[in-house]
Amino acid sequence: MTVRSAETVRLRALDATHVWHPFTQMATWHEDNPLIISAAEGNWLIDSDGNKYLDGVSSLWTNVHGHRHPHIDAAVRAQLDKVAHSTMLGLSNQPAVELAAMLAEIAPEGLNRVFYSDSGSTAVEVALKIAYQYQCQRGPAGDGRRKFLCIRGAYHGDTVGAVALGGIDIFHAVYGPLLFETIKAEAPHCYRCPFGQDSATCKKECFTHLEETAARHSHELAALVIEPLVQGAAGQITHPEGYLSHARKLCDKYGMLLIADEVAVGFGKTGTMFACEQEAVRPDLLCLAKGISGGYLPLAATLATDEVYSAFLGSHAECRTFFHGHTYTGNPLACAAGIASLELFRTEKTLERLQDTIRLYSQLLEPLAAHPHVGQIRRRGIMTGIELVADKATKTPYPFAERTSHKVVMAARRRGVIVRPLGDVMVLMPPLSITPEECRLLVSVVSEAIEEVTG
Ligand code: PMP
Repeated sequence: MTVRSAETVRLRALDATHVWHPFTQMATWHEDNPLIISAAEGNWLIDSDGNKYLDGVSSLWTNVHGHRHPHIDAAVRAQLDKVAHSTMLGLSNQPAVELAAMLAEIAPEGLNRVFYSDSGSTAVEVALKIAYQYQCQRGPAGDGRRKFLCIRGAYHGDTVGAVALGGIDIFHAVYGPLLFETIKAEAPHCYRCPFGQDSATCKKECFTHLEETAARHSHELAALVIEPLVQGAAGQITHPEGYLSHARKLCDKYGMLLIADEVAVGFGKTGTMFACEQEAVRPDLLCLAKGISGGYLPLAATLATDEVYSAFLGSHAECRTFFHGHTYTGNPLACAAGIASLELFRTEKTLERLQDTIRLYSQLLEPLAAHPHVGQIRRRGIMTGIELVADKATKTPYPFAERTSHKVVMAARRRGVIVRPLGDVMVLMPPLSITPEECRLLVSVVSEAIEEVTG
C-alpha cells in the first residue's frame, strides 16, 4: 500500500471535523484511518493514495455491472447534455417514462404502475402508504384493515414508517415510542430457529406460525411485508423454500396485500432478476432501489398492480389521489442510468453469465463452512452471509464489545478487499460482474482474514 499522501491527510482531517457517517460510532471512526475513495474501475475502488480494493459488497449492495461501465457512463453523459433534473409533479420526462415501461415489462406480470422515489426507504414508505390508503378506499373489504404484518428481524430502511415495519432491535428499539404498531411474525431462521427446532425435528413451524398470526389478525391487516428469499440486514437469513409462496397464499386467503421489498435482493442478487420469480410469486406492491440504477445514482420505484392503482382513481373532489412525492422523484439522470443498466442485462447476458459465477462462488465458499469459528454460511445467488461464532457447537456469539467482525473487515482491507459485517455476520455481495479470478480473491482474502482474527 502506498504511503499516505498530503491530500489524504487533508481529506481525512476535513472528514474528521465535518462529516457524520451513517451507522457509525463517530467516537472511534478515525482510529481506523478511513479510506477516502476517489475513483473506481470495474469491480475495484481506488482510494486517494491510488490503492485498489475489490468492492466485495458492491458499494452497499448497489453496483451491478461494475463501476464506470462505458455504456452507463455514456448514457448518463448523454442525458446531461439534455436535462439533469425536472419535476414529475405536473410534468413527465423521457427517461422516467421509458424506464417505467421497461420495469413493467420485466417485473412479475401485472405490476404495471411505477411510482418513483429515491431510496429503498422511500420505496417502502410509498408501498406502505399506498397499501394503507388502498384499504381505506377499497370499500367494505378494506374496513378496519390498518395494520401491517411484518417479519421479526426485518429491515426496510431508516425512515420512521420503514423502521416501524422493521425489527432489528439494535437499530430500531430506541425509536419505539415514535412508531406505529405492527404485528410481528417470527423469522423463518433455520440456523437460530425461534421454535427451537433443527433440520431433523423441523415440521415447518414457521409456516404454521405465519398462518396462525395472519389468521388471528386477519380482520385488521392491510398488508404483509416481506424481504423475498433473503432477510438481508438481519444477517443474510435465507428463508426456507416455499415460505414466500406460502406468504402469497396467506395474503389471498386473508384479504391482505403482499408487499415485496426487493430493495436488496432485486436486480440479479439472488440469481434471477427478481427474487419473487423463484417462487412464481406476484406481489401487489414491489419495492425496488439500490441496483435499479446499476448502482450509479439514487433511484427507487414502487410497482403496483392495476387493481391497487385503480382504487386511487376518481374525481378530484373524491380526494382518492395518492398525495405523496419526493422532489427528485423520477430524476432523468438516474432513470437514464437505470435504462442503460437494464440494456446491459440484455446485451451482456448478465443473468446467464451469473449462473457460472454463482456455481464457482459456492464451490469456493464450501471449505470455509468447516472453519471452527464459522457457524453457518448462508447464500442465495451471490448474496452471502458468513456467521462467525465463538463456539460452533453451542452457536454462542462473540461478545458484542469485541467487534470481531470489524477486526475481520480491517484484516480484509489490509489485503485489498472491502467487505462489511452485520453483527458478526460477514456479508459478501460483489457486483454481478465479478470475474472468476476476483471471486477467488474475495473468498481467499475473507477466509484468511477470518483465520487471522479468530485463529
Ligand atoms: N429495504 C431493504 C431490504 C434494504 O436492504 C434496505 C437497505 N439496505 C432498504 C430497504 C433501505 O434502502 P435505503 O438505504 O436506500 O433507504
